[in-house]
Amino acid sequence: ERLVGAAADGEDLAVEAALRPKDLEEFIGQTRVREQLDLVLRAARARGATADHVLLSGAPGLGKTTLSMIIAAEMGAPIRITSGPAIQHAGDLAAILSSLTEGEVLFLDEIHRMSRPAEEMLYMAMEDFRVDVIVGKGPGATAIPLELPPFTLVGATTRAGLLPPPLRDRFGFTGHMEFYAPDELERVVRRSARLLDVEVTDDGAAEIAGRSRGTPRIANRLLRRVRDYAQVRADGVVTREAARRALAVYEVDERGLDRLDRAVLNALLSLFGGGPVGLSTLSVAVGEERETVEEVAEPFLVREGLLARTPRGRVATPAAWRHLGMVPPQPAAG
Ligand code: ATP
Repeated sequence: ERLVGAAADGEDLAVEAALRPKDLEEFIGQTRVREQLDLVLRAARARGATADHVLLSGAPGLGKTTLSMIIAAEMGAPIRITSGPAIQHAGDLAAILSSLTEGEVLFLDEIHRMSRPAEEMLYMAMEDFRVDVIVGKGPGATAIPLELPPFTLVGATTRAGLLPPPLRDRFGFTGHMEFYAPDELERVVRRSARLLDVEVTDDGAAEIAGRSRGTPRIANRLLRRVRDYAQVRADGVVTREAARRALAVYEVDERGLDRLDRAVLNALLSLFGGGPVGLSTLSVAVGEERETVEEVAEPFLVREGLLARTPRGRVATPAAWRHLGMVPPQPAAG
């Protein structure tokens, strides 16, 4: 697993529960989504109603699960957590839906990966709070309608565009989660350090924030690695120096690129003069699978403006040359 990967690993899961903000007030950043949600929830509370269904879209590790728990807490409701891939059959979904209590929040992570029949069952459940349970098989099968208590579905997806329009349209509110700004990540680091009982200096927090790829989960993970380093090799305080040394050990550079990211850029610059070069050729040069380069390394390089995908192949930007401290070849004078 990559230290700068955005998906949760085992250790993340163990500590994340302790680091989750408990209400909207405590939730850092995402000011627009926070304000919009605050209105949705306050209005529902004032009406004494169950909140509208909420869709949260955004990259992994930006806080979708955390926000769903906050929605439940703000509504004083229990929460049930499941995910699209965990729902193989419509029956799996029927079992969950029929056991919900009034006002309960159902968090459905990776909602775009649900099976088709389950998705169709969900349409009716969201709109009419009803499901048809099919009993029996073949020509003798009958649909038994089952009333559901009103509940709030919170769906999470990496991209709202992946959802079929009929599903998307059944959400009363869609919140688009953005990558976090460096000062917001600094606040995440300082808050987590306090909860983990780790002393961190302001420049230490800034150093970690700058390498966290806009993602709180990565910020929290880097903080733990720097804490280990500071504890073993220094006086336990997370300073800028400790962060620099620790993350040098883990090969995460000042911009959050790791070894794989830099290998891709380095091959592009030193072997192909900055491109354009085809993905397959670039992958062979790096000694990685095509998918790894395309899905693991490239998205962040593109987001950072270090690499561009063009019809003729991958091209390095001037920022890529600067980042690796190399000089682009000068076009021949003439
Ligand atoms: P995934 O899609 O991979 O499940 P996610 O978007 O649901 O990711 P969370 O699990 O909610 O992400 O958040 C990951 C970690 O980042 C948690 O430990 C959480 O405490 C922290 N975190 C996320 N957003 C914030 C925030 N706004 N303020 C403070 N901490 C945050």
